[in-house]
Amino acid sequence: MSEDLDEFRQRCRVFLAEHATGIDVSEGDDPRAEHALAAAKAFQAKVVDAGLAGLTYPVEYGGQGLTSAHERIWREEAGTFPVMTRQLAISHGMALPMLNEYGSDEQRAKYQPKVVAAEEVWCQMFSEPGAGSDVASLQSRAVRDGDEWILNGQKVWTTLAHVCDRGLIIARTDLDQPKHRGISMFILDMNAPGVEIRPIHQIDGGMRFNEVFFTDVRIPAEDQIGPLNEGWRLATAMLMYERVAIGGGQALGINHDRADLLIKEARRRGKLDDPVLRQRIMKLYSAEVCQSLISIQTRAALQAGKTPGPGGSLGKLAGAVIAGEYRGLSMDVVGPEGLAWESNGRWAKEALGTFASGIAGGTDQIQRNIIGERVLGLPREPSVDKDLPFRELKVGTQAAI
Ligand SMILES: Cc1cc2nc3c(=O)[nH]c(=O)nc-3n(C[C@H](O)[C@H](O)[C@H](O)COP(=O)(O)OP(=O)(O)OC[C@H]3O[C@@H](n4cnc5c(N)ncnc54)[C@H](O)[C@@H]3O)c2cc1C
Repeated sequence: MSEDLDEFRQRCRVFLAEHATGIDVSEGDDPRAEHALAAAKAFQAKVVDAGLAGLTYPVEYGGQGLTSAHERIWREEAGTFPVMTRQLAISHGMALPMLNEYGSDEQRAKYQPKVVAAEEVWCQMFSEPGAGSDVASLQSRAVRDGDEWILNGQKVWTTLAHVCDRGLIIARTDLDQPKHRGISMFILDMNAPGVEIRPIHQIDGGMRFNEVFFTDVRIPAEDQIGPLNEGWRLATAMLMYERVAIGGGQALGINHDRADLLIKEARRRGKLDDPVLRQRIMKLYSAEVCQSLISIQTRAALQAGKTPGPGGSLGKLAGAVIAGEYRGLSMDVVGPEGLAWESNGRWAKEALGTFASGIAGGTDQIQRNIIGERVLGLPREPSVDKDLPFRELKVGTQAAI
């Protein structure tokens, strides 16, 4: 078996050396991430051809049927090359494990191979204008009509909705149940009549996420995923996968990319002898190493077949804290160039983009609540509305239905 793994590692190395050469797309030229996604899909097609896609998923569902040890090796090796599939993070890191864990045999046979191969890319549709941190307050509604569901409502901040084929969406299916119950999850065709996608302009110049509106969108009954009215349980599982995907990245191993970049930049600008700057960069370096160790531990639990638990919030929070440190430090290293926008603007855009880390996938405050309550066992936040029927609640734009 160990020889088999050694051979596998060698195969990964040879493949990555030939194909993982970095994606040549400047974010400034690609505000909707369309070129970057096309490049990621092209790379994934080569991964499929090489028999390296969906390593641990069953062969009949588009995977390779290999072990978690193979997966670990792939991630370790990929970690030493540029990240090629960043735009597939939601589709592969969140939608795919959900489909694998909760999809019916028919759903898995129909969709999983296409998602593994990135022939289809999926997004996540949870957040609404009145339901972000408290996503269980969502108001989008699906009403059963014969063999279909009719969906009305709105989602917001939907990353890559404009280039996705399908999305996993949660909508309210029973108003008489309390807000955490009476929610169901569906597989939604993003090209179905009645789905309207509008871009949101970001502070860093990008337009990678969207508002999505639904007007009488018909969803086939067979595209409801998991048990009816238990969508909250599925949503929580998907958020756990999200926190692992965000906090742990796609690669595995000890990572200190941000500190390395600043060391290189400080040296180039003749600032590396500044003792205070050196100390701050070392602090960042140490924080990145600690985050890597947390991620390795979380991934190990995942590979042991466990659904990610609240511990994923530790890596996610650490990533956001590191992004904040990096923001200030990078500005101090590059000096006035950090204000430049038009010519290249790389540093300014990157610094502004770091704010997203403390919001996407659940804010820092929410991660701290989760860690406090579910990792440290502190008392839970008071909740006054958890047992009331949803129709009696005053949430978002809903006064009372
Ligand atoms: C880059 C990016 C990509 C995203 N992609 C997606 C996506 O693909 N799909 C999707 O569904 N969503 C997506 N989101 C949305 C994201 O999940 C929400 O923005 C996030 O959950 C916060 O919700 P909100 O924006 O409504 O803020 P709110 O929930 O309104 O929070 C406002 C402030 O109140 C604080 N707060 C709220 N409740 C509490 C509490 N109980 N205790 C302490 N503080 C609290 C928050 O921490 C925050 O500071 C994305 C967001 C970003 C930034």
